[in-house]
Amino acid sequence: MNLIKVIFCLVFLFEISYASIKNKPFDIYELNGNINGNTLLVIGGIHGDEPGGYFTPTLLLQHYKIKKGNVLVVPNLNPDSILNFKRGLYKDMNRKFAVISKNDPDYDNVERIKGIIKDEKVNFILNLHDGHGFYREKWENSIFNPRAWGQTYVIDQKQLDDVLFGNLDEIAQNIVNSLNKSLHYDYHTFGIRNTETRHKDEEQQNSLTFFAISNLKPALAIETSKNIKDLELKTFYQLSSIEVLMGILGIEFERDFELTLSEVSKKIQEYGEVTINNNVKIPLSNVRRVINFAPLKVGDNEFVFSHPLGREKRIKNGYELYIGNIKVSTLRADYFSMKCSFDSMEIVSDNKDMFLASFGDTISFKDGFLIKGKNTARVNVIGYSKKGVVSESDVFIDSKLIDKNYSLDKSDSIFRVEVYEGNNFCGMINLKKGN
Ligand SMILES: [Zn+2]
Repeated sequence: MNLIKVIFCLVFLFEISYASIKNKPFDIYELNGNINGNTLLVIGGIHGDEPGGYFTPTLLLQHYKIKKGNVLVVPNLNPDSILNFKRGLYKDMNRKFAVISKNDPDYDNVERIKGIIKDEKVNFILNLHDGHGFYREKWENSIFNPRAWGQTYVIDQKQLDDVLFGNLDEIAQNIVNSLNKSLHYDYHTFGIRNTETRHKDEEQQNSLTFFAISNLKPALAIETSKNIKDLELKTFYQLSSIEVLMGILGIEFERDFELTLSEVSKKIQEYGEVTINNNVKIPLSNVRRVINFAPLKVGDNEFVFSHPLGREKRIKNGYELYIGNIKVSTLRADYFSMKCSFDSMEIVSDNKDMFLASFGDTISFKDGFLIKGKNTARVNVIGYSKKGVVSESDVFIDSKLIDKNYSLDKSDSIFRVEVYEGNNFCGMINLKKGN
Protein backbone atom coordinates (compact mmCIF):
# COMPACT_ATOMS: atom_id res chain seq x y z
CA MET A 1 0.00 0.00 0.00
CA ASN A 2 2.73 2.41 0.99
CA LEU A 3 4.66 1.63 -2.16
CA ILE A 4 1.64 2.42 -4.30
CA LYS A 5 1.24 5.71 -2.48
CA VAL A 6 4.87 6.58 -3.12
CA ILE A 7 4.56 5.74 -6.82
CA PHE A 8 1.38 7.79 -7.06
CA CYS A 9 3.11 10.77 -5.44
CA LEU A 10 6.10 10.47 -7.77
CA VAL A 11 3.88 10.40 -10.85
CA PHE A 12 1.96 13.37 -9.50
CA LEU A 13 5.15 15.33 -8.82
CA PHE A 14 6.50 14.50 -12.26
CA GLU A 15 3.33 15.81 -13.90
CA ILE A 16 3.44 19.02 -11.89
CA SER A 17 7.06 19.69 -12.79
CA TYR A 18 6.46 18.90 -16.47
CA ALA A 19 3.46 21.24 -16.54
CA SER A 20 5.56 24.08 -15.20
CA ILE A 21 8.19 23.75 -17.96
CA LYS A 22 7.66 26.01 -20.93
CA ASN A 23 9.66 26.35 -24.12
CA LYS A 24 11.04 29.88 -24.58
CA PRO A 25 8.79 32.02 -26.81
CA PHE A 26 9.99 32.30 -30.42
CA ASP A 27 10.79 35.58 -32.19
CA ILE A 28 9.16 36.97 -35.31
CA TYR A 29 10.59 39.60 -37.63
CA GLU A 30 8.65 41.48 -40.30
CA LEU A 31 10.40 42.53 -43.50
CA ASN A 32 7.97 44.84 -45.27
CA GLY A 33 8.45 46.28 -48.74
CA ASN A 34 7.40 49.81 -49.69
CA ILE A 35 5.25 48.38 -52.47
CA ASN A 36 2.28 46.18 -51.53
CA GLY A 37 2.45 42.55 -52.53
CA ASN A 38 2.19 38.98 -51.32
CA THR A 39 3.34 37.79 -47.91
CA LEU A 40 5.62 34.81 -47.33
CA LEU A 41 5.99 33.28 -43.85
CA VAL A 42 9.36 31.55 -43.34
CA ILE A 43 9.57 29.30 -40.28
CA GLY A 44 12.89 27.93 -39.06
CA GLY A 45 14.08 25.90 -36.11
CA ILE A 46 11.14 23.55 -35.54
CA HIS A 47 13.79 20.83 -35.10
CA GLY A 48 16.73 21.81 -32.91
CA ASP A 49 19.29 19.50 -34.54
CA GLU A 50 18.81 20.92 -38.06
CA PRO A 51 21.01 24.03 -38.18
CA GLY A 52 20.39 24.78 -41.89
CA GLY A 53 16.80 25.28 -40.80
CA TYR A 54 17.64 28.08 -38.36
CA PHE A 55 20.73 29.78 -39.79
CA THR A 56 18.96 30.28 -43.16
CA PRO A 57 16.10 32.40 -41.76
CA THR A 58 18.63 34.29 -39.64
CA LEU A 59 20.61 35.35 -42.72
CA LEU A 60 17.33 36.19 -44.44
CA LEU A 61 16.25 38.61 -41.72
CA GLN A 62 19.73 40.09 -41.24
CA HIS A 63 20.78 40.63 -44.84
CA TYR A 64 17.71 40.95 -47.08
CA LYS A 65 15.70 44.08 -47.74
CA ILE A 66 12.22 43.50 -49.16
CA LYS A 67 11.15 46.05 -51.77
CA LYS A 68 7.79 44.63 -52.83
CA GLY A 69 5.59 42.36 -50.71
CA ASN A 70 6.39 41.11 -47.21
CA VAL A 71 8.37 38.34 -45.58
CA LEU A 72 7.66 37.27 -42.00
CA VAL A 73 10.57 35.37 -40.49
CA VAL A 74 10.57 33.09 -37.46
CA PRO A 75 14.17 31.85 -37.06
CA ASN A 76 13.69 29.87 -33.85
CA LEU A 77 10.29 28.20 -33.51
CA ASN A 78 11.69 25.73 -30.95
CA PRO A 79 14.32 27.67 -28.92
CA ASP A 80 14.94 25.09 -26.17
CA SER A 81 15.59 22.32 -28.70
CA ILE A 82 18.01 24.53 -30.66
CA LEU A 83 19.93 25.37 -27.48
CA ASN A 84 20.21 21.66 -26.67
CA PHE A 85 20.76 20.50 -30.28
CA LYS A 86 17.90 17.99 -30.00
CA ARG A 87 15.24 17.27 -32.60
CA GLY A 88 12.63 17.86 -29.91
CA LEU A 89 13.61 18.43 -26.28
CA TYR A 90 9.90 18.01 -25.39
CA LYS A 91 9.35 15.41 -28.16
CA ASP A 92 8.77 16.23 -31.84
CA MET A 93 7.09 19.64 -32.18
CA ASN A 94 6.19 18.85 -35.79
CA ARG A 95 3.80 16.17 -34.54
CA LYS A 96 1.78 18.53 -32.36
CA PHE A 97 -0.22 20.54 -34.90
CA ALA A 98 -3.37 18.40 -34.88
CA VAL A 99 -3.66 17.86 -31.12
CA ILE A 100 -1.66 19.35 -28.26
CA SER A 101 -2.22 19.26 -24.51
CA LYS A 102 -2.33 22.55 -22.60
CA ASN A 103 0.34 21.12 -20.30
CA ASP A 104 2.75 20.51 -23.17
CA PRO A 105 5.86 22.74 -22.89
CA ASP A 106 5.45 23.53 -26.61
CA TYR A 107 1.77 24.53 -26.25
CA ASP A 108 2.24 28.32 -26.35
CA ASN A 109 4.65 28.27 -29.31
CA VAL A 110 2.51 25.85 -31.34
CA GLU A 111 -0.72 27.77 -30.72
CA ARG A 112 0.93 31.11 -31.47
CA ILE A 113 2.44 29.98 -34.79
CA LYS A 114 -0.92 28.44 -35.77
CA GLY A 115 -2.48 31.88 -35.36
CA ILE A 116 0.21 33.47 -37.55
CA ILE A 117 -0.19 30.75 -40.22
CA LYS A 118 -3.94 31.47 -40.34
CA ASP A 119 -3.45 35.26 -40.55
CA GLU A 120 -5.30 36.35 -43.68
CA LYS A 121 -2.37 38.35 -45.04
CA VAL A 122 -0.11 35.26 -45.19
CA ASN A 123 -0.10 33.80 -48.75
CA PHE A 124 2.53 31.08 -48.48
CA ILE A 125 4.36 29.20 -45.74
CA LEU A 126 7.81 27.63 -45.74
CA ASN A 127 9.02 25.26 -43.04
CA LEU A 128 12.80 24.75 -43.04
CA HIS A 129 14.59 21.48 -42.18
CA ASP A 130 17.70 19.36 -42.65
CA GLY A 131 16.65 15.78 -43.39
CA HIS A 132 18.38 12.43 -43.53
CA GLY A 133 20.05 11.17 -46.72
CA PHE A 134 19.47 12.12 -50.33
CA TYR A 135 16.07 11.61 -51.92
CA ARG A 136 15.94 9.43 -55.04
CA GLU A 137 12.86 8.10 -56.84
CA LYS A 138 14.43 4.64 -57.03
CA TRP A 139 16.20 2.76 -54.21
CA GLU A 140 20.01 2.88 -54.54
CA ASN A 141 21.16 2.32 -50.95
CA SER A 142 20.41 3.38 -47.38
CA ILE A 143 21.49 6.97 -48.08
CA PHE A 144 20.06 7.47 -51.60
CA ASN A 145 16.46 6.27 -51.70
CA PRO A 146 12.78 7.23 -51.92
CA ARG A 147 12.43 7.28 -48.12
CA ALA A 148 15.18 9.87 -47.62
CA TRP A 149 14.11 13.41 -46.75
CA GLY A 150 17.35 15.25 -47.61
CA GLN A 151 17.42 17.52 -50.71
CA THR A 152 13.66 17.58 -51.17
CA TYR A 153 10.80 20.00 -51.32
CA VAL A 154 8.09 18.26 -49.37
CA ILE A 155 4.46 18.82 -50.32
CA ASP A 156 1.42 17.26 -48.68
CA GLN A 157 -0.56 17.11 -51.92
CA LYS A 158 -0.15 18.26 -55.52
CA GLN A 159 -2.72 20.98 -55.51
CA LEU A 160 -4.89 23.15 -53.26
CA ASP A 161 -7.90 23.92 -55.43
CA ASP A 162 -9.11 27.52 -55.84
CA VAL A 163 -6.30 28.95 -53.69
CA LEU A 164 -3.75 31.48 -54.97
CA PHE A 165 -0.37 29.64 -55.23
CA GLY A 166 -2.20 26.38 -54.51
CA ASN A 167 -0.31 24.71 -57.39
CA LEU A 168 2.23 23.25 -54.94
CA ASP A 169 3.65 20.59 -57.27
CA GLU A 170 4.30 23.12 -60.05
CA ILE A 171 5.88 25.59 -57.66
CA ALA A 172 8.13 22.90 -56.18
CA GLN A 173 9.05 21.77 -59.71
CA ASN A 174 10.10 25.33 -60.60
CA ILE A 175 12.36 25.49 -57.55
CA VAL A 176 13.83 22.04 -58.35
CA ASN A 177 14.59 23.09 -61.96
CA SER A 178 16.32 26.23 -60.83
CA LEU A 179 18.30 24.71 -57.95
CA ASN A 180 19.52 21.70 -59.90
CA LYS A 181 21.32 24.11 -62.24
CA SER A 182 23.49 25.49 -59.43
CA LEU A 183 24.55 22.42 -57.45
CA HIS A 184 27.98 22.29 -55.84
CA TYR A 185 28.11 18.52 -56.29
CA ASP A 186 26.06 16.56 -58.84
CA TYR A 187 24.72 14.13 -56.23
CA HIS A 188 23.08 17.00 -54.31
CA THR A 189 20.19 16.94 -56.80
CA PHE A 190 16.88 18.16 -55.39
CA GLY A 191 13.58 16.31 -55.88
CA ILE A 192 9.95 16.60 -54.84
CA ARG A 193 8.62 14.36 -52.14
CA ASN A 194 4.82 14.28 -52.12
CA THR A 195 3.72 12.64 -48.87
CA GLU A 196 0.06 12.52 -50.01
CA THR A 197 -0.66 13.24 -46.38
CA ARG A 198 -4.45 13.24 -46.42
CA HIS A 199 -4.69 9.70 -47.82
CA LYS A 200 -1.44 7.95 -47.10
CA ASP A 201 0.44 9.48 -44.19
CA GLU A 202 -1.37 9.54 -40.88
CA GLU A 203 1.71 10.68 -38.95
CA GLN A 204 2.32 13.62 -41.25
CA GLN A 205 -1.24 14.79 -40.55
CA ASN A 206 0.10 16.17 -37.27
CA SER A 207 2.64 18.39 -39.03
CA LEU A 208 2.86 22.14 -39.45
CA THR A 209 2.52 22.11 -43.24
CA PHE A 210 -0.56 19.85 -43.11
CA PHE A 211 -2.13 22.20 -40.57
CA ALA A 212 -1.44 25.04 -43.02
CA ILE A 213 -2.98 23.37 -46.07
CA SER A 214 -5.96 22.19 -43.99
CA ASN A 215 -6.55 25.91 -43.41
CA LEU A 216 -6.19 26.55 -47.17
CA LYS A 217 -2.71 28.06 -46.84
CA PRO A 218 -0.20 26.81 -49.41
CA ALA A 219 2.88 25.43 -47.69
CA LEU A 220 5.97 23.39 -48.37
CA ALA A 221 8.98 22.19 -46.44
CA ILE A 222 12.55 22.60 -47.65
CA GLU A 223 14.81 19.77 -46.52
CA THR A 224 18.52 20.07 -47.17
CA SER A 225 20.53 16.97 -46.33
CA LYS A 226 21.89 16.21 -42.87
CA ASN A 227 24.57 14.29 -44.75
CA ILE A 228 25.91 17.60 -46.09
CA LYS A 229 28.16 18.58 -43.23
CA ASP A 230 28.97 22.14 -44.34
CA LEU A 231 26.46 24.47 -42.74
CA GLU A 232 27.24 27.16 -45.32
CA LEU A 233 26.33 24.81 -48.18
CA LYS A 234 22.98 23.85 -46.64
CA THR A 235 22.28 27.51 -45.96
CA PHE A 236 23.31 28.41 -49.53
CA TYR A 237 20.84 25.85 -50.97
CA GLN A 238 18.03 26.98 -48.69
CA LEU A 239 18.54 30.69 -49.41
CA SER A 240 18.69 29.95 -53.15
CA SER A 241 15.40 28.03 -52.87
CA ILE A 242 13.74 30.87 -50.96
CA GLU A 243 14.89 33.37 -53.60
CA VAL A 244 13.29 31.31 -56.38
CA LEU A 245 10.07 31.06 -54.36
CA MET A 246 10.05 34.82 -53.69
CA GLY A 247 10.33 35.32 -57.47
CA ILE A 248 7.27 33.09 -58.01
CA LEU A 249 5.33 35.03 -55.36
CA GLY A 250 6.31 38.38 -56.91
CA ILE A 251 8.26 39.41 -53.81
CA GLU A 252 11.14 41.73 -54.78
CA PHE A 253 14.24 41.97 -52.62
CA GLU A 254 17.81 43.19 -52.28
CA ARG A 255 20.56 41.23 -50.57
CA ASP A 256 23.62 42.97 -49.06
CA PHE A 257 26.12 40.23 -49.97
CA GLU A 258 26.95 38.08 -52.97
CA LEU A 259 25.29 34.65 -52.77
CA THR A 260 28.43 32.51 -52.84
CA LEU A 261 29.57 29.80 -50.46
CA SER A 262 32.39 31.87 -48.99
CA GLU A 263 30.17 34.90 -48.39
CA VAL A 264 27.46 32.76 -46.78
CA SER A 265 30.13 31.24 -44.55
CA LYS A 266 31.32 34.70 -43.46
CA LYS A 267 27.78 35.84 -42.69
CA ILE A 268 27.07 32.74 -40.59
CA GLN A 269 30.14 33.50 -38.48
CA GLU A 270 29.04 37.04 -37.65
CA TYR A 271 27.89 36.35 -34.09
CA GLY A 272 27.36 39.97 -32.99
CA GLU A 273 27.74 40.78 -29.32
CA VAL A 274 26.16 40.10 -25.96
CA THR A 275 25.38 42.73 -23.34
CA ILE A 276 25.36 41.41 -19.77
CA ASN A 277 23.59 43.25 -16.94
CA ASN A 278 23.84 46.43 -19.00
CA ASN A 279 27.43 46.98 -17.84
CA VAL A 280 29.48 44.46 -19.83
CA LYS A 281 29.59 43.94 -23.59
CA ILE A 282 31.40 41.01 -25.23
CA PRO A 283 31.92 40.82 -29.01
CA LEU A 284 31.28 37.17 -29.95
CA SER A 285 32.59 36.68 -33.51
CA ASN A 286 36.16 36.02 -32.47
CA VAL A 287 35.73 35.55 -28.74
CA ARG A 288 37.97 33.30 -26.66
CA ARG A 289 36.56 29.86 -25.84
CA VAL A 290 36.77 30.59 -22.12
CA ILE A 291 36.58 33.90 -20.28
CA ASN A 292 37.80 33.58 -16.71
CA PHE A 293 36.72 35.79 -13.80
CA ALA A 294 33.69 37.11 -15.68
CA PRO A 295 32.01 39.60 -13.31
CA LEU A 296 28.47 38.31 -12.72
CA LYS A 297 25.72 38.50 -10.12
CA VAL A 298 24.95 35.54 -7.87
CA GLY A 299 21.26 35.63 -8.81
CA ASP A 300 19.78 36.26 -12.24
CA ASN A 301 21.96 37.88 -14.87
CA GLU A 302 20.46 39.66 -17.87
CA PHE A 303 21.85 38.68 -21.28
CA VAL A 304 20.89 40.61 -24.43
CA PHE A 305 22.27 39.17 -27.67
CA SER A 306 22.36 41.17 -30.92
CA HIS A 307 22.17 37.85 -32.84
CA PRO A 308 18.67 36.34 -33.25
CA LEU A 309 19.96 32.88 -32.25
CA GLY A 310 21.97 34.05 -29.23
CA ARG A 311 21.23 32.40 -25.89
CA GLU A 312 22.91 31.68 -22.58
CA LYS A 313 22.87 28.42 -20.67
CA ARG A 314 23.48 28.41 -16.94
CA ILE A 315 26.15 25.96 -15.81
CA LYS A 316 27.87 25.33 -12.52
CA ASN A 317 29.89 28.45 -11.73
CA GLY A 318 28.99 30.42 -14.85
CA TYR A 319 27.33 30.41 -18.23
CA GLU A 320 27.82 29.04 -21.72
CA LEU A 321 27.07 31.38 -24.63
CA TYR A 322 25.46 29.94 -27.76
CA ILE A 323 24.64 31.10 -31.27
CA GLY A 324 22.10 28.51 -32.39
CA ASN A 325 23.70 25.15 -31.56
CA ILE A 326 27.23 26.59 -31.62
CA LYS A 327 28.85 27.13 -28.24
CA VAL A 328 30.94 30.26 -28.75
CA SER A 329 32.28 30.82 -25.25
CA THR A 330 32.12 29.84 -21.58
CA LEU A 331 32.04 32.45 -18.84
CA ARG A 332 33.60 31.36 -15.54
CA ALA A 333 32.01 33.58 -12.96
CA ASP A 334 33.45 35.89 -10.37
CA TYR A 335 30.46 37.02 -8.30
CA PHE A 336 29.84 40.61 -7.22
CA SER A 337 27.07 42.90 -6.13
CA MET A 338 26.70 45.75 -8.60
CA LYS A 339 25.47 48.91 -6.86
CA CYS A 340 27.69 51.79 -7.97
CA SER A 341 27.22 55.54 -7.89
CA PHE A 342 28.44 56.18 -11.47
CA ASP A 343 28.15 54.55 -14.91
CA SER A 344 30.98 55.99 -17.01
CA MET A 345 34.69 56.81 -17.00
CA GLU A 346 36.91 59.28 -18.85
CA ILE A 347 39.55 57.66 -21.02
CA VAL A 348 42.44 59.22 -22.95
CA SER A 349 43.71 57.13 -25.83
CA ASP A 350 47.28 57.54 -27.13
CA ASN A 351 47.82 60.66 -25.00
CA LYS A 352 45.52 62.73 -27.19
CA ASP A 353 41.86 61.78 -27.67
CA MET A 354 39.54 62.00 -24.69
CA PHE A 355 36.38 59.89 -24.44
CA LEU A 356 33.55 59.66 -21.95
CA ALA A 357 32.98 55.90 -22.00
CA SER A 358 29.87 54.29 -20.57
CA PHE A 359 30.19 50.76 -19.23
CA GLY A 360 29.93 48.36 -22.14
CA ASP A 361 31.50 50.82 -24.62
CA THR A 362 34.49 50.00 -26.80
CA ILE A 363 37.27 52.59 -27.16
CA SER A 364 40.00 52.26 -29.81
CA PHE A 365 43.66 53.02 -29.31
CA LYS A 366 46.95 52.43 -31.12
CA ASP A 367 49.71 52.31 -28.51
CA GLY A 368 48.16 52.77 -25.12
CA PHE A 369 45.58 54.53 -22.94
CA LEU A 370 44.94 56.20 -19.61
CA ILE A 371 41.84 55.85 -17.43
CA LYS A 372 41.13 59.05 -15.50
CA GLY A 373 40.70 58.49 -11.78
CA LYS A 374 37.47 59.04 -9.92
CA ASN A 375 37.08 59.45 -6.16
CA THR A 376 35.62 56.12 -5.20
CA ALA A 377 36.53 54.12 -8.30
CA ARG A 378 39.10 51.36 -8.44
CA VAL A 379 40.33 50.49 -11.94
CA ASN A 380 41.68 47.10 -12.93
CA VAL A 381 43.15 46.59 -16.40
CA ILE A 382 42.98 42.81 -16.79
CA GLY A 383 46.38 41.40 -17.72
CA TYR A 384 48.27 44.45 -16.42
CA SER A 385 49.77 44.92 -13.00
CA LYS A 386 52.18 47.27 -11.38
CA LYS A 387 53.61 46.60 -7.94
CA GLY A 388 52.08 48.64 -5.14
CA VAL A 389 49.35 50.12 -7.34
CA VAL A 390 45.78 49.55 -6.08
CA SER A 391 43.89 51.41 -8.78
CA GLU A 392 45.34 51.45 -12.28
CA SER A 393 43.94 54.91 -13.06
CA ASP A 394 45.83 58.06 -14.03
CA VAL A 395 48.75 56.09 -15.46
CA PHE A 396 49.46 55.68 -19.17
CA ILE A 397 49.29 51.98 -19.96
CA ASP A 398 51.29 50.86 -22.97
CA SER A 399 49.55 47.83 -24.48
CA LYS A 400 52.90 46.02 -24.62
CA LEU A 401 52.66 45.76 -20.84
CA ILE A 402 49.34 43.87 -20.95
CA ASP A 403 49.51 40.07 -21.02
CA LYS A 404 47.81 39.14 -24.29
CA ASN A 405 46.42 35.91 -22.82
CA TYR A 406 43.90 38.09 -21.00
CA SER A 407 42.35 39.62 -24.13
CA LEU A 408 38.66 38.98 -24.82
CA ASP A 409 39.31 37.94 -28.42
CA LYS A 410 41.49 35.33 -30.09
CA SER A 411 43.35 38.06 -32.02
CA ASP A 412 44.72 39.50 -28.74
CA SER A 413 43.37 42.96 -29.49
CA ILE A 414 40.49 43.69 -27.08
CA PHE A 415 41.33 44.27 -23.41
CA ARG A 416 39.11 44.46 -20.35
CA VAL A 417 39.09 47.54 -18.17
CA GLU A 418 37.03 46.75 -15.07
CA VAL A 419 35.87 49.34 -12.59
CA TYR A 420 34.88 48.73 -8.96
CA GLU A 421 33.49 50.82 -6.11
CA GLY A 422 34.07 49.24 -2.72
CA ASN A 423 32.98 45.61 -3.03
CA ASN A 424 30.81 46.35 -6.05
CA PHE A 425 31.58 45.69 -9.70
CA CYS A 426 30.45 48.75 -11.69
CA GLY A 427 31.17 47.78 -15.25
CA MET A 428 33.64 46.96 -17.99
CA ILE A 429 34.97 49.06 -20.87
CA ASN A 430 36.60 47.35 -23.85
CA LEU A 431 39.88 48.85 -25.08
CA LYS A 432 40.54 47.81 -28.65
CA LYS A 433 43.97 47.94 -30.20
CA GLY A 434 43.97 49.04 -33.83
CA ASN A 435 46.42 50.57 -36.27
ZN1 LIG B 1 13.19 18.47 -39.49
